[in-house]
Amino acid sequence: MSVEERVGREMHALMAELYPICRSITGDGVRQSLAILGRHIPLQIEEVASGTAVFDWAVPNEWNIWDAWVKNAVGEKVIDFQQCNLHVLNYSVPIHRRVSLGELQEHLHSLPEYPDWIPYRTSYYRENWGFCLSDRVRQSLPEGEYEVFIDATLAPGHLTYGEYYLPGESEDEILLSCHSCHPSLANDNLAGMAVATFLAKALQEKKRRYSYRFLFIPGTIGSITWLARNEDRVSRIKHGLVLACVGDPGHLTYKRSRRGNAEIDRAVIHVLRQAARPYDVVDFSPYGYDERQYCSPGFNLAVGSLTRTPHGRYPQYHTSADNLDLVQPEYLADSFATYLAVLDVLEKNKTYLNTNPKCEPQLGKRGLYGALGGLQDTREREMVMLWVLNLADGTHTLLDMAERAGTSFALVSQVASVLEAHGLLTAVAPD
Ligand code: ZN
Repeated sequence: MSVEERVGREMHALMAELYPICRSITGDGVRQSLAILGRHIPLQIEEVASGTAVFDWAVPNEWNIWDAWVKNAVGEKVIDFQQCNLHVLNYSVPIHRRVSLGELQEHLHSLPEYPDWIPYRTSYYRENWGFCLSDRVRQSLPEGEYEVFIDATLAPGHLTYGEYYLPGESEDEILLSCHSCHPSLANDNLAGMAVATFLAKALQEKKRRYSYRFLFIPGTIGSITWLARNEDRVSRIKHGLVLACVGDPGHLTYKRSRRGNAEIDRAVIHVLRQAARPYDVVDFSPYGYDERQYCSPGFNLAVGSLTRTPHGRYPQYHTSADNLDLVQPEYLADSFATYLAVLDVLEKNKTYLNTNPKCEPQLGKRGLYGALGGLQDTREREMVMLWVLNLADGTHTLLDMAERAGTSFALVSQVASVLEAHGLLTAVAPD
């Protein structure tokens, strides 16, 4: 089994462990989930009190749930939270009373177009109660009286998030952010959490120029809270990616940062193009995941989002069919490898000066012709060597050179190392 295959399986196993937990934007489900991730990486857990002002928002009351059901007139459970946590409207207030079918219907959510799937619905900022169920079950409910019960609390408490800072040579940071606020949903939430966790583990083992900051936060309110508490540190973030929907069979999709052509945008697009497989690139829009907050005009960070099929674009999105079968180890592994390749570009992207800029240096006498591997790609390597020497004028980065030469960053970077070792290039210190 290759390393990638093994990591793919481990990420899927981590998701399977997290899957049954009822998460929300606050509450014990988030704490439990972060504790599980904490067995893989030394997560720092932050608790922010309800009511704390965060820019134009306030940290909401904390929601916890133990049980919820609807019983029919003869006392049989027709909807049961213990069977699937999507059955309860996330953030429902507690309730215990008898209602008619007519009143119950006003609080039910189903998907007639997918009659066997349970939808995922929330009501974070408007107090309400409700149940989600398959349309097939909903249509089968007879007239009569029902008993509804939601054993939950919505009360002052905390918003919980996890943060892991992995230092590198420089204080300049790369931000990797994912949301961790959805209950039993696999691609939308757990896949991002699993890939982020395993990226952190992989990066621990690597030499790092950059420092890395991993955030496991509730969508929207989590990034707003983090930005409000860390405003003075935000300028250290040089590049960032929001991870989500990274485990489905669809191809990779990159959503550009608001800046549009930042180094992160160019690095991701370069890696996708070089992979010679289908991919999509979409421009920034103020919708989606937490890139909305990182790219708000007051921050305008160089943060894009690399997903597979974007949110809302696959039928299983926000339903019980976004499960552990939709997400497969091979797709997780492919996303993981792509993220690592992008981070490798950022780590190694430097500017060089040709120490012998007046005409080409004589490569033959230095043993550089035909010496770079001696494989069938020798000719390509020689061409890349000429490009690197030509563009090493202190203004072009290795990524610029790779794009100009129409070749992979990895090859350009390798060639630059060889030329540097022969004294033909010197790295220009970053400003
Ligand atoms: Zn979602």
